[in-house]
This record gives sequence, C-alpha cells and structure tokens, in this order.
Amino acid sequence: MEKIIIVGAGLSGATIARLLAESGNEVIVIDKRENIGGNAYDYVDKNGITVQPYGPHIFHTSDKQVFDFLSKFTEWKKYEHRVLAKVRKDKLVPVPFNLTALFSLYPKEKAERIKETLISEIGEGKKVPILQLKKHQSEEIRKFADFVYKNIFYIYTLKQWGFKPEQLGEAVMNRVPVYLSEEDRYFTDEFQFMPAEGFSAMISNILRHPKIKLKLKTDAKKELTLSDGQIYFGGKPLDGTLIYTGCVDELFDYKYGVLPYRSLKFKFETIKKPSYQPAAVVNYTTSHKYTRISEFSKFTCEQKENTVIVKEYSKPFKKGKNIPYYPIPISKNYEHYKKYEEEAKQYKNLYLLGRLANYKYINMDVAVKNAMLLYEEITGDTVE
Ligand code: FAD
Ligand code: UDP
Repeated sequence: MEKIIIVGAGLSGATIARLLAESGNEVIVIDKRENIGGNAYDYVDKNGITVQPYGPHIFHTSDKQVFDFLSKFTEWKKYEHRVLAKVRKDKLVPVPFNLTALFSLYPKEKAERIKETLISEIGEGKKVPILQLKKHQSEEIRKFADFVYKNIFYIYTLKQWGFKPEQLGEAVMNRVPVYLSEEDRYFTDEFQFMPAEGFSAMISNILRHPKIKLKLKTDAKKELTLSDGQIYFGGKPLDGTLIYTGCVDELFDYKYGVLPYRSLKFKFETIKKPSYQPAAVVNYTTSHKYTRISEFSKFTCEQKENTVIVKEYSKPFKKGKNIPYYPIPISKNYEHYKKYEEEAKQYKNLYLLGRLANYKYINMDVAVKNAMLLYEEITGDTVE
C-alpha cells in the first residue's frame, strides 16, 4: 500500500491519518511540537485542572457523522457553553446578546418596546447577525443594533483582529448573532460536549493504530523540498502522498510573501480560590487590552482548591517570533492565499488540509469533516 506522510498531529492530521490507516495505508504523522493535538492539546496541571495552553476549546457540532466518528475515541461530558460580556465595570450580560441582556441594559419600558418591535419585525426566537440588524428598515431596530454593536462587537473585534466588524464581514460576524430569545448558550448545536479525558486523550486514541507512525519534535520543512512538481522527502523523491496541515506559505518558502495571521498571547494565572468568575468565559467587550478571560475548571466541572484562568491578548503574527493561530478572513488575504493554492496544484501528490493550510477560520468539527471529505477524494471510498 501507498506511503503517506501527514504533516501536523492536530485534529485534521489525526483524522485523515486514522481513516487512511484503517483502509490499509502506512501513514507517518510528523509534528514539530512535542505534543500531539495541535491547538486543541490539553493536560492536567499541578492544580489538578485540565488546561489548554493554546487556548480554550469547546466541542460542538450538528454533524452526526463527525460526532459518531469522534465518539469512537472518547467518552463525553455534557457541557453547554455560556459566555458573559463585561460591558461596564459593574455589568455582565450574556453573549450572544439576547433578550435578557436587553432588559439588563435598558430601562424596563424601553426594553419592552424594543423587544416588541424586534419580535414583530423579525420574529421571536430568531438569530440575527449584527451587521444585518444594523441595516434594518426600522429606525428603532437600527438604533438598538448600534447599541449592541458598540457594546459587544466593535472594540472586541478591533482587539481580536485589528479590523472593524464591517471589514471582516459575515464569515466572522455571523458566528455570534443576536438572539431574539432568552437562549443563553453560546452554541445551539445538537451535540455539545467536552471529551471526558480531554482533547489530548481523544486525539491520542485517534492516532493509536498499528499503521500510524508518529514522529514528534520534527520540523517537516527540514525534510521536505518541493520543486517543479516533484516532492522530495529526506532528499529522495516522494513516491507517495503528502498531506500538509501547516502554513502553506512556509511550505513554499514564502515564495509569494508571508500570509497574514493573528497570533495570541496567553497569560495564565493560578488563583487561590475555587472559583474566579461567574461563567467559564468572560469577554471584555468595551475595555481592557485582553479580549477574554477563560476559567478552565468551569469547562470540565473540575472545581478544586485553586482555579486557573487565562487572559487572552491578540497580536499580529510575526514569522519566527510567535504562533500563527487565526487566518485573517478578508478578501485581500484570500487572494494572497490563492497564489499558494495554485502553486500547490502543480504537485499531484500534495493535499492541503486544516485551518492553516486551507487558510480557513474553521471549528474542530469542520476540521474533522474536511478530513473525511479529503479521505473520500483521495481514496474514492466513503466514510461510514
Ligand atoms: P492545528 O491544531 O493548528 O494543527 C496543526 C499542526 O501542524 C500543529 O500541531 C503544528 O505544530 C503542526 N505543524 C505545522 N507546521 C509544521 C511543520 N512544518 N512540521 C511539523 N509540524 C507542523 N474550535 C472549536 O470547535 N471550538 C473551540 O472552542 C475552538 N476554540 C479555539 C480557540 C483558539 C484560541 C483557536 C486558535 C482555535 C480554536 N478552535 C476551536 C479551532 C480549532 O483549534 C481548529 O479548528 C482545529 O484545532 C484545527 O486543527 P488543525 O489540525 O487543522 O490545526
Ligand atoms: N465577537 C465580538 N464580541 C464578542 C464575541 C465575539 O465582537 O463578545 C466577534 C469577534 O470579532 C470574534 C467573532 O465575533 O472574533 C467570533 O467570535 P467567536 O467566539 O466565534 O470566536 P472564537 O474565539 O471561537 O474564534
């Protein structure tokens, strides 16, 4: 069977590795980090709390196929994510902004009036993207939308991306709509869980297969050369398949320049009390340099004597200095990315996969789904 090299032991790399190994292929998975799991990596720290050094991850999906696939590798703990936004010093309201937030921030009578208009004009229970709400024909709704925009989206988005919400558009802003209900869960997907033993354990189980060989602490770039449609691995022409889940600009030696990404700086703190804040995540939507504070024990119901929080600061990505976390989804960057995508097409045995290589702002369930689709493309088989 064919030799397959997969760069990246994150969820994308692990899923495709497993599917290909199960269908009889010899697979080598390479990652430059000392741990598997990519950004979803977690571990139990000295306080007995599961922490996620590359940022807080919560699993949610409406895709049963993805859920069933992952369920072969983990038990689950029920967890429904709720987020509060600190809009003023003394005021925390639910995000997505909902009717509870409306009544918490407006005088009662005015809130009643706005609620009535929203429901009669748009419909009870609807979820509306903020940029759409801002363009509504009703002046009252537009004013309300401006208020929500100012208090929830504008500053947070500038901090997170260095761009205004309008510059980013729907791919980003539609992720967190305004709820015309009292729904206070961040996600409304059918399946919302945390893996019972953590993401690392789940991904490690995915990778545990006799046909998968794992090589950590190995920078694939040092082994790989791509030239004139031929991939060389370890100096020899690769007579198999390369699936790459790292940054595509790096793969091609930045031939068309460095792609823009956002990086993050995490400041972890151990707090000497069992609980720090009233929700797992508090977003700082009008103040502070950090975007949000996450409290890990609240994701996993692991309350202990101490609690661990992380403050998240968003930064521009600087090659060689920090980690590229988020592709920046604006059209100029997609145009830039396309040059690399075209270049990749010259290599018949090269496939780009995952958040970095596809330059797409995707969640974990989509990472798994895309790996399944790639498996089907490569093998012609369907994933059960
Ligand atoms: P990654 O996890 O980035 O894995 C890529 C791997 O490739 C890395 O391990 C890297 O070391 C390796 N690699 C790169 N280049 C090389 C090289 N040259 N040689 C060897 N190895 C290399 N999704 C959700 O569903 N829910 C959430 O709550 C959520 N929260 C998030 C929070 C943050 C802060 C971030 C950044 C992302 C979040 N996501 C969330 C998205 C989620 O992280 C991704 O969808 C998913 O992890 C993508 O997996 P991946 O394998 O494509 O990429
Ligand atoms: N957002 C915001 N205020 C909030 C929450 C989200 O402005 O309180 C915007 C912001 O631009 C953010 C985007 O909505 O990047 C998507 O938020 P999400 O929580 O989905 O981002 P994630 O942390 O999962 O990448």
